[in-house]
Amino acid sequence: MATATTPLTKRGGGWLVAAGDPADVMTRERITDEHRLIEQTAAGFMTTEVLPVLDRLEQKDWALNRELLVKCGALGLLGTNVPEAYGGVDLDKISSLIVSEQLAHNASFATTFGAQANLTILPIVMFGTDAQKMRYLPPLVAGTMAGAYCLSEAGAGSDALGGRTVARRQPDGSFLLTGEKMWISNGGFADVYIVFAKVDGEHFTAFVVERAWPGVSTGREEHKMGLHGSSTTPVIFQDVRVPAEAVLGEIGRGHKVAFNILNFGRFKLGAMTSGGAKEAIADAAKYAAGRRQFGVAIATFGAIRHKLGEMTAREYGLESLLYRTAGLIDDMVAATGGGATALLAALEEFAVEASIAKVHGSEVVDFVIDETVQIHGGNGFVADYPVERRYRDARVNRIFEGTNEINRLLIPGMLMKKGVKGDLPLMAAARALQDEILGPPALPSGADGPLDAELRAVEAFKKVTLFVAGVAMQRHGAALDAEQEVLSLLADIVIDAYAAESAALRARAAAGTSAAALHAAAAAVVVHEAAGRIELNGRSALAALAAGDTRRTHLAALRRLLKVAPVDVIALRRELADAAVARGGFPFA
Ligand SMILES: Cc1cc2nc3c(=O)[nH]c(=O)nc-3n(C[C@H](O)[C@H](O)[C@H](O)COP(=O)(O)OP(=O)(O)OC[C@H]3O[C@@H](n4cnc5c(N)ncnc54)[C@H](O)[C@@H]3O)c2cc1C
Repeated sequence: MATATTPLTKRGGGWLVAAGDPADVMTRERITDEHRLIEQTAAGFMTTEVLPVLDRLEQKDWALNRELLVKCGALGLLGTNVPEAYGGVDLDKISSLIVSEQLAHNASFATTFGAQANLTILPIVMFGTDAQKMRYLPPLVAGTMAGAYCLSEAGAGSDALGGRTVARRQPDGSFLLTGEKMWISNGGFADVYIVFAKVDGEHFTAFVVERAWPGVSTGREEHKMGLHGSSTTPVIFQDVRVPAEAVLGEIGRGHKVAFNILNFGRFKLGAMTSGGAKEAIADAAKYAAGRRQFGVAIATFGAIRHKLGEMTAREYGLESLLYRTAGLIDDMVAATGGGATALLAALEEFAVEASIAKVHGSEVVDFVIDETVQIHGGNGFVADYPVERRYRDARVNRIFEGTNEINRLLIPGMLMKKGVKGDLPLMAAARALQDEILGPPALPSGADGPLDAELRAVEAFKKVTLFVAGVAMQRHGAALDAEQEVLSLLADIVIDAYAAESAALRARAAAGTSAAALHAAAAAVVVHEAAGRIELNGRSALAALAAGDTRRTHLAALRRLLKVAPVDVIALRRELADAAVARGGFPFA
């Protein structure tokens, strides 16, 4: 958790009120040899073990899925967040991000992996007793035991705390667990489940429940749109006798387990979507280079270069914010002494950034894959090409780990809470902005080094965020919670601002390298596109928050804040597209 001495740039949401420093931001270009090694290990595992058996996985060969978990475990991939004492390799969060990106080469296996490594292992690492850690972590990390996470119910998905599964306390201290969970990944073959239930119908609590205990059963596999190689079933608990030692964390504190795990899960889902987007860009770039129409490669057509350039730029923004966030989490864990408690606090601190990663990642990957289908023409619609599967597999990313609607509501909500509690000086920044708006216009800055224009635009994006949030708070006060459309527009502004700043800082950090121009092109496209959306979202929100002269004054202030110099994005996208085609994929790898 941040303390009074933690610099603003190292706090969750602090980027909104403090200018980022390119020298201090974690970027993909700054990964170490150790990171490269874990990347090669994960990539090699996917290429040699998973991709050749995809068809069997899609036919629901769960024995094979379990064999793959064991192989994954043997390579240390399941234990990146687990202390060595329990069989893990305890690496930093950059490593977790890199592993997640690589596993995304197949979304079904990535889901199996995520349910095991993120949703089962992590709750035990973070909340388990020593006895629970000793019993479950070594086999889970080795992959010889499979796990699943049972939160959702048919009537309680987004409203996860509204579940009806109950654990009735027994005179001997044990519990009788009854209820039915829905859509559980790894449900069909897991040996152990993290289960959320209300003790005596009231106190929301997490438990570790073994499949072998009498009364545990699973329903039939769901027939899904995608992820055919991932097991998804109901899990049924019929008067299961659960010992007192199976409580995970504290009785009545299950929400702590659920929400903290979701924080990390959202960040890692962002990482997986980034990996998936890079795979799709590679498919698209290679196909566009090889497919000829009208006597030339389709990669030479402006319309196709536009797509490839835009796909590359969006992925650049996503990748930039992911590495930046992982670096921030690692810094905070290191500054607070390491271990499970420090990790828990850091994940809570960066919950806003985790939600941004989830929402932005799931929408970037959908955009990229959709355009990849389009670039493939008719071939994009048939199963002979991998993009058909990718298209179906990616859609669920906007639904699980908290829907994008729920995450959009959380983003401004959590930021405002930090402002009200005084964890972030948002009120002071909003007041300073008010003075700036009422004062004489600032003289245009003469400085024009690499990325200066983009970084100035990013400062304007942050001011727009504060301005719109301030107007919304003034208009609705505590009732702003109910104004979902305004909150969602605000979330989109925050997401664009964070992605744009992360991209601009990364590109600035790359100045002077051989790839500097390409970085600058990607960042300029990200910033320019963000400016357009931020203006539109800002206008829509402000128009809903006041009428008449006040509305006109607000809109004039928006125009004054958001002065972004135009750039030739068509030329920049062409540059990015040509680099992607020459490289046969995302050109910043
Ligand atoms: C393939 C797959 C795997 C899954 N794996 C797991 C797993 O391993 N473990 C697990 O516990 N769950 C799992 N889930 C469940 C998943 O987390 C839920 O589907 C998800 O949380 C959404 O809940 P829901 O389906 O009930 O939708 P609902 O909550 O009914 O939402 C329906 C729509 O209403 C919107 N909505 C709901 N509430 C609000 C609100 N307050 N304000 C605004 N809009 C709102 C939603 O955003 C959505 O658009 C999985 C789901 C799928 C499809």
